[in-house]
Amino acid sequence: MAELLRTIKYESDRVKGFGREVMSVPGCEQLESCIQCGTCSGVCPLSIYMDSTPRQVMELVRSDFKNEVLHSRTIWLCASCYACTVECPRQIRITDIMYELKQRAIHEGVYPKKFPIPVLAKEFHKMAHNHGRVTENWLATWMFLKTNWLAAIGMWKLGLGLFMRGRFSLKYEGIKRKGELARMMETVDNIDIDKLTDVKPKRKPAH
Ligand code: SF4
Ligand code: SF4
Repeated sequence: MAELLRTIKYESDRVKGFGREVMSVPGCEQLESCIQCGTCSGVCPLSIYMDSTPRQVMELVRSDFKNEVLHSRTIWLCASCYACTVECPRQIRITDIMYELKQRAIHEGVYPKKFPIPVLAKEFHKMAHNHGRVTENWLATWMFLKTNWLAAIGMWKLGLGLFMRGRFSLKYEGIKRKGELARMMETVDNIDIDKLTDVKPKRKPAH
């Protein structure tokens, strides 16, 4: 059965303070001065595939429509090409705002679970947190297994070929003192690490 979508927005859909919160993040402050000229949507190579154009996303953020923005596919389709940021007449860092929205969607667990991009971002972060380094072959493997495991099985020949040539290591790459890097990442991002990973860094007691 076809899904019916409401397109009218109501005052009650707004989450008061959301726009202010995003604009308080360093790099996102300029959003306040958006004049809704639409240049960002015009230059965006992917806007024809987005459910809300970059211009619309900017206004939705500013107007506190948090749920609509965080559930939007636009933030995940953004390829971070920076064309919008370069062309914006108000020097708004649209690409960085998209990153901020992606982070918030992941932290709140509202990203599309089978969509490769947020899964890739989350796995990348988890690997960097747990090992201090990203092992690309494992990153690709986890992304396929979590989004399209049939495709992962279909690639067994490629995986075997890489393994035979020593290009697919079963070991994760890592760094020494990875716990320190993990703590830095937690401090910077204020991550709810219990949601993200099973492996917790060892904390030294404060003296
Ligand atoms: S180009 Fe800049 S000012 Fe124009 S709509 Fe986009 S964000 Fe707003
Ligand atoms: S950075 Fe993202 S939103 Fe901006 S033009 Fe590129 S794809 Fe579009």
